[in-house]
Amino acid sequence: MFLPQEIVRKKRDGGTLSAEEIQFFVRGIPDGSTTEGQIAAFAMAVYFNDMSMDERVAFTLAMRDSGLVMEWKSLDLPGPVVDKHSTGGVGDVVSLMLGPMIAACGGFVPMISGRGLGHTGGTLDKFDSIPGYSTVPDPETFRRVVKDVGVAIIGQTAQLAPADKRFYSIRDTTATVESVAMITGSILSKKLAAGLDALVMDVKVGSGAFMPTYDKSVELAESIVHVGNGAGTPTSAILTGMNESLCHAAGNAVEVRVAIDYLSGKSRPARLHEVTMALCAEMLVMSGIAKTDDEARAKLQAALDSGEAAERFARMVTALGGPADLMDKPDAHLESAPVIVQAPALQAGFATSVDTRGLGLAVVALGGGRVRPQDTIDFAVGLTNMVELGEAIAVGQPLAMVHARSHDAAEQAVRQVQAAYRIGATMPAAEPMIYKTIRP
Ligand code: URA
Repeated sequence: MFLPQEIVRKKRDGGTLSAEEIQFFVRGIPDGSTTEGQIAAFAMAVYFNDMSMDERVAFTLAMRDSGLVMEWKSLDLPGPVVDKHSTGGVGDVVSLMLGPMIAACGGFVPMISGRGLGHTGGTLDKFDSIPGYSTVPDPETFRRVVKDVGVAIIGQTAQLAPADKRFYSIRDTTATVESVAMITGSILSKKLAAGLDALVMDVKVGSGAFMPTYDKSVELAESIVHVGNGAGTPTSAILTGMNESLCHAAGNAVEVRVAIDYLSGKSRPARLHEVTMALCAEMLVMSGIAKTDDEARAKLQAALDSGEAAERFARMVTALGGPADLMDKPDAHLESAPVIVQAPALQAGFATSVDTRGLGLAVVALGGGRVRPQDTIDFAVGLTNMVELGEAIAVGQPLAMVHARSHDAAEQAVRQVQAAYRIGATMPAAEPMIYKTIRP
């Protein structure tokens, strides 16, 4: 028999907790037997004294097992169940293409995605901008779509890792979010509850990343790879660039348009393509669908060229209640903003750096993200045609197009975009998009 306060005391004093102690403590989080004060004190003790890798594995498994853990074995799927998760960014529309691309190559992707957090966009919000598409289907529909189409992208359900939901909200209000051990457990408990055969993590690096420095991003990626594998799920991580928006658009409906153009072959922006292909190829290799990176890339290219990936996206959208002709007529279904204005450059030169977080916050201020959890999202608003780093720009030329609900909101966003870009006399060196891959 354990006592929560004794477990907190042990961690406070720098001790190492046993798996049984961690399981006991975590069990009390969703059922309310552990008080908010005890959870907050535990979080602060972990913040200062950290957790060993063994503790992190036990913590992740306990949080995963606090709710439903999906199983796919009984469906006898003819391929592996695999997913990707990103630490979040701006203009990161990868999941919308990646899920259908993997499905077209024989994988099964039960993607439980999140809402936007802070300055970052959320895959769930992007899908909510498609009229009729249900991001909260009943569990049987979710399983059927994964089986029939190979991919279903939906929202977090209350049944998955409920301990993390309470724990995260307490961390959020007690200045204890920034702990690699707890971030690892929080992310992995939710992802591993989806019953995956393999997971690839996209850890962002740069001015729009969740982690504040390159070293911290590496630390998180290594922790996730170690703990994911320790918890029994083959896991790898790729560190990718978030020093500017991943594609030229940021918002919800505007990003869905980017995904549709990518899948249909109309436009595949280079940086977005590089990151999407790298993550997809890693998923195919990690899940055993391809033996090498080259083989994986060939399969993925074929899935794009044949239209199979686009087809899977269309089938997923219809199976979850969206319009059957979304791919052919996106503008008939996706909302457009009533006010579209340029954000003109105030100086001539090269775009040398951009405060990507600032661009994300501009989208939030336009109504494309939430300031409070209960806020509703304006799907139509956002930024498009964003200038890429290294591009030459003349005075008055647009740094981006602002899509807004009102002229006042547009004006504010124009100022935010202008403040986010730094224009200099010399062309900056190109930043890599793929920094590093970390494998078990
Ligand atoms: N995202 C999560 O899901 N959990 C964290 O702790 C941080 C980011």
